[in-house]
Amino acid sequence: MKNQFSITLIFILIFSISSVFAQEDIDQFLKNQPIIDMHFHITKGFDDNETYNQRKVDIDSAKLDWVIEDFNNNNVVLVLGGGTEKYAKMYAKADSIFWAGLVFPCIKTVKQDEPCDKEFFSESKLREIYKTGNFKSLGESMFNYYGIPPTDKRLEPYWKIAEEFNLPVGIHADSRPRPEKHKEERPNYNPDYANPELLKPILEKHPNLRIYLMHYGGGYSEQSLELMKLYPQIYCEISAVSMFAPKKVWEPKVKKLFNEGLGDRLMFASDYFGTVRKNIEIIYNLEWLTEKQKRDIYYNNAARFLNLSESEIDAHYRQVN
Ligand SMILES: [Zn+2]
Repeated sequence: MKNQFSITLIFILIFSISSVFAQEDIDQFLKNQPIIDMHFHITKGFDDNETYNQRKVDIDSAKLDWVIEDFNNNNVVLVLGGGTEKYAKMYAKADSIFWAGLVFPCIKTVKQDEPCDKEFFSESKLREIYKTGNFKSLGESMFNYYGIPPTDKRLEPYWKIAEEFNLPVGIHADSRPRPEKHKEERPNYNPDYANPELLKPILEKHPNLRIYLMHYGGGYSEQSLELMKLYPQIYCEISAVSMFAPKKVWEPKVKKLFNEGLGDRLMFASDYFGTVRKNIEIIYNLEWLTEKQKRDIYYNNAARFLNLSESEIDAHYRQVN
């Protein structure tokens, strides 16, 4: 028994030493490496969130301040974040790190979407919101949660404005989460409507739409690959799937993306609050990727997708120096 105990102790010791070394490796790797986070949810502050609720009286500002600090600490220089009008405006105004925009549509029964005064906007109202809010992105798409396909007439103004403003559009393109989990807040949720195949008629009508598919590696990976092959401007990210699904499920699909010659369209994204570092490590730990490929995922692929200018890119590198 005693022997077994000391063997266990040695294992624990080796494990902790190697994990300290691994952390040092990744910190070294990330030095001077700017990162673009393509998937963030702008929401109100939640009183019960212990990460930031001790900070200030105003819970919304407490959350915002914590988020900015977390992005800064992790070399994140640009964040695509969607929310409802009120909070997207607040974030866009607070810091140029945010390329904010609307989730579409917001859903009145969803806590994260509060306040959702209006679920669908007209074309002229959207144009006004995008101008006055200085919004630079659109998404995440929530039409699957709302229970309608992307071809629903109420969404047409969004596609039109996205094309007019040349906005990057984040589409939830996974068959998850399972509907049972969302019955109360999203009673009409239909995962079938997240199938990216359904975007084909939209893309035929608006061929220049700059779409990126969220949660590649999940249920609609084949359909995502097919769409990306048809449209060179379509990119993807692997958030949530890479954090919650077993690696043996999603990793082969990421390998396939590279084998098909589409690896340079994969971008970094975190999606869930407070998981930036964890998602950085997930990419870093794909040991079959070259150093260059990892750096491309963290920054270069998104910089290309977002058409960043040389001076913007220079400024980002200066920020992390
Ligand atoms: Zn999503």
